[in-house]
Parts: sequence; structure tokens; C-alpha cells
Amino acid sequence: MAELATHVVPAPTLERFIADIFAAAGCERAEAAQISHHLMGANLTGHDSHGVIRTPRYVQWLQEGKVLPGQRLTIVNESPTHAVVDGNFGFGQTIGPLAVDLGIAKAKSVGMAAIALRCSGHIGRIGDWAERAAAQGLLSIHFVNVAEGELVAPFGGVDRRFSTNPVCIGVPAQGDAPMLLLDMATSLVAEGKVLVASNGGKPLPEGALISPDGVRSTAPEVLYGPLGPLTPRDAAKGDGALRAFGEHKGSGLAFMCEILAGVLTGGATSGPIPGGKRGRISNGMFSIYIDPAHFGAADFAAKAAEYALYVKASRPEVAGGEVLVPGEPEARTRADRLANGVPLQLGTWNALRAVADSLGVAVPN
Ligand code: NAD
Repeated sequence: MAELATHVVPAPTLERFIADIFAAAGCERAEAAQISHHLMGANLTGHDSHGVIRTPRYVQWLQEGKVLPGQRLTIVNESPTHAVVDGNFGFGQTIGPLAVDLGIAKAKSVGMAAIALRCSGHIGRIGDWAERAAAQGLLSIHFVNVAEGELVAPFGGVDRRFSTNPVCIGVPAQGDAPMLLLDMATSLVAEGKVLVASNGGKPLPEGALISPDGVRSTAPEVLYGPLGPLTPRDAAKGDGALRAFGEHKGSGLAFMCEILAGVLTGGATSGPIPGGKRGRISNGMFSIYIDPAHFGAADFAAKAAEYALYVKASRPEVAGGEVLVPGEPEARTRADRLANGVPLQLGTWNALRAVADSLGVAVPN
């Protein structure tokens, strides 16, 4: 399949452009810059589905009052080792760092801490939060769900019950080595990949979707309903579902994300909302922060890096192949895109131009 045409923008130019859009849409300049910075974090690591492509939708949510600018965390309750915090439907790019920094401070003080975050606006690429903790020398583990984001069928079922529920584990890096970072949706593919496939991009892998009559499928219509080239892609219009990765095991992990990030946080699961739908999606995130120094593992990062090298030395399955460790593809993409610019699909670039025009923001060449 031919690659879709792209428009390549230097990373600093794109970051400024997106910040200008959020500032024009009503965010304070500092918040606009932070939203842009974290969206760029997803593009730079190759997770375009969670990057600047989200801008038009975020602006729409801002205009509709579904996400609120200038929010801070409300501490619901806390101890030296934990906190339950409410994001008040603020931008995830504003609320996420506040929740992570609270976990970092507690873990540095007592060795480990759990932070249960509820009612945050979309917090994007979860790897960003693990990177923030790792920069302070901490391991972190994150379980995430999306209230009102039901898209995924449980193993053995056809009806949607989970969101795409990412799980992320980050390990501080040794020196210049790439950070060890597992950051993955528990659906076989992220919804963004169905979007790409529906626009003629990379086809979906076998079994990515399931139709209401229980037939496994790769047809985006299963998720979005009947499609023409200009039909908006809306998962509310389809009757089918994404499938969890790894059969019953991935489905079980997705289920536990709902329990930890949806129920334990006091937020909401992706299923029915007590008191009725709020008409907006929100992320819950249950995170554990660990300071290896408190575990007597002062040389932890060095030993982890040593083990990663051992894993990479496994003989490749195919001639010329290579074993990568989690986080390595992202580190390589980041190096490439910082040097050569960020490629955006033309549909994404045109949507950014349209939202910029609507707000009177100059579009970079
Ligand atoms: P993916 O499938 O591209 O990568 C998953 C993991 O596999 C990564 O840690 C990556 O380093 C590793 N990996 C990839 N190729 C590898 C290889 N050849 N060898 C070894 N390891 C390899 O990621 P995904 O599941 O599509 O998730 C995309 C992003 O979407 C993530 O950043 C996730 O946090 C985000 N997400 C966010 C939400 C939300 O509600 N905020 C929901 C779902 C997903």
C-alpha cells in the first residue's frame, strides 16, 4: 500500500503553531504552550494518533465547555504514600503534570506512592508521564481508562465494555541509553489506527474489530458505520467494537484498568455513568511511583540497562532483523523527527489549517 501524502513541519514551528491555536481559542499562553508541548511529545515519538491531530477536537471541546482551561487539581484525600485527586475536567496536559509531580514528591520522600487521578481531560500519550517521572530517577506504572469512551469488546463478547485503556511502565534510563518504556493500549489497535485505515492508510491487522454478529473483521465500517470519503469518522455511528489484544489476557488487563482507573479513583468506568452521561470523555489514571534508591538499588538504572542489552543480543528471528526493547522505537522516531521535521497526513494538516483560520491564527508555510 502506498504511503499517504504528508506535509512535513519542523518540530519547533509546529509546536509554536499549535500553541498559537490554543491561545487564540482562549487558553492562557502558558497553558497553550504546555498543551502543545505534550501533543508534540506524541508526534515526536511516532504516536500521531495522540498528537496534534487532536487539536481540532480539543478546540471544539473547549468551545463547548467539555474541557475547561486554567484548572488545578483538587486533593480529595491524601497521606504520605497516596493521594486521590480530581482534575475538574481541566486539560489533561495541565492536570497530568500536576498529578505526576505530586507522585514524584511523595515517592522521593517515602520510597513509593500511588496517585489516583479522576475526571481529567484527555491525558494523551501516557508515556509522557512516565518520562516525567523517569527524568527524576523514578520508576512508574500507570493504568488508564476513559469514562464515556467505550470502544472495546471483552474477550468472548461483542458489545463494547472497555475503552482502549492504556498501561504504561517507565524505567529511568542509564546515561544516554533510551529510556525503557512500555506504553500500550490494551486494544489490539488504537482507535486512531482505524481512523487511518478508513482514510486509505495502513490496513488493520486480522481480528482488530468484531461486528455485532460476532464476526471478526478488518473493515473500519464495523466501528464507524457506512463510510464515504467525506463522512466524519464517529465511533458512535458503528455497531461493532475494537478487540482487546492478547485474547483473554489483554481483555483481563483492560478490565483491571477500569477497576483501578475508573472505580478505585472514584471517577467512572467507561460503562454507564452514575447519575447519567456527562456528554464528555475524561481520563482516570491510577499511577504508582517508585524510587529505586529507597529499595537499596542505587545502581538500578545501570543494571536495567545491562539487562536490556542482554535481551537485545537475542539472535534475530529473521536475517537482518533486530530485537528492540520497549521505548526504543519511540526514541528512534524522536531523534529522526527532531532532525527532519514531523510528517503530518494531509488530512491532519488541512484540519489544523481550518481551525487556525477559524481563530485568525497565521498558518506557517
Ligand atoms: P504501540 O503498539 O505502537 O507500542 C506499544 C509498545 O510496544 C511501546 O512501548 C513500544 O515501545 C513497544 N514496541 C513497539 N514496537 C516494538 C518492537 N518492534 N519491539 C519491542 N517493542 C516494541 O502503541 P499503542 O498500543 O498503539 O499505543 C499508542 C499510544 O496511545 C500510547 O502512547 C498510549 O499511551 C496512547 N493511548 C492513550 C489513551 C488515552 O486515553 N489517553 C488511550 C489509548 C492509548
